[in-house]
Amino acid sequence: MARRRQIYEGKAKVLFEGPEPGTLVQYFKDDATAFNNKKKGTITGKGVLNNRISEFLMLRLGEMGIPTHFIRRLNMREQLIRQVEIIPVEVVVRNVAAGSLSQRLGIPEGSALPRSIVEYCYKNDELNDPLVAEEHVTAFGWATPQELDEILSLSLRINDYLSGLFYGTGLRLVDYKLEFGRLWENDQMRIVLADEISPDSCRLWDVETNEKLDKDRFRRDLGSVEEAYQEVARRLGILPESGPNDVPGSETLQ
Ligand code: UDP
Repeated sequence: MARRRQIYEGKAKVLFEGPEPGTLVQYFKDDATAFNNKKKGTITGKGVLNNRISEFLMLRLGEMGIPTHFIRRLNMREQLIRQVEIIPVEVVVRNVAAGSLSQRLGIPEGSALPRSIVEYCYKNDELNDPLVAEEHVTAFGWATPQELDEILSLSLRINDYLSGLFYGTGLRLVDYKLEFGRLWENDQMRIVLADEISPDSCRLWDVETNEKLDKDRFRRDLGSVEEAYQEVARRLGILPESGPNDVPGSETLQ
């Protein structure tokens, strides 16, 4: 098959032109980065697992009325998505104190938060995705007040649903990052959930033992990183049949 045109290459994913206008192919790599690219590595099979985990979560969210960019999974490492205009704001939803919130505010990791907290970061690698206020988002025109209202309301619905879904598998959804995009359909614009939801973008702790089953195993050199991602997939009931050791490459689009 002829190589498709690459639209964008990020740290963990590549976007290719899709088979029809308005579609893209999202390819999941095994590459892992942390601390704004200062730490780099490979987690064997991560791309395969994240493709499956993100597919599963986007489908479940779609079923409960959350619009997403996801169309269908194409193969082990690729999914077909709708092309959207990404809003340059990372939405971080927190249920338990961890990571940068603990560091910034001196709240010990693992402390229950009085309620779920939604934070916004300006999506800009050069600036290290700085935390910003709602005011910055609307004043600089990254999103309109109406769009931000919609993003907040979708994020809270997503949080209720995903917290329950993960809790049912013995995992605490500590925090995670969401991205949204604008989808244009016949002059109508809708805000849809984009990017991915996976152990790369979520903190997931075992409910009983507080064992970390997410990218913190890579960030903090805790070992057994692949096993942690596999365990999340196993608990969701979606371990790929033939295991994560597929043929690398992106030409397998059917
Ligand atoms: N996160 C992410 N991408 C980012 C920043 C954060 O997916 O660029 C996720 C991260 O995995 C965690 C949550 O968002 O689940 C909150 O991250 P935090 O602000 O604590 O930053 P970190 O500790 O990851 O630097």
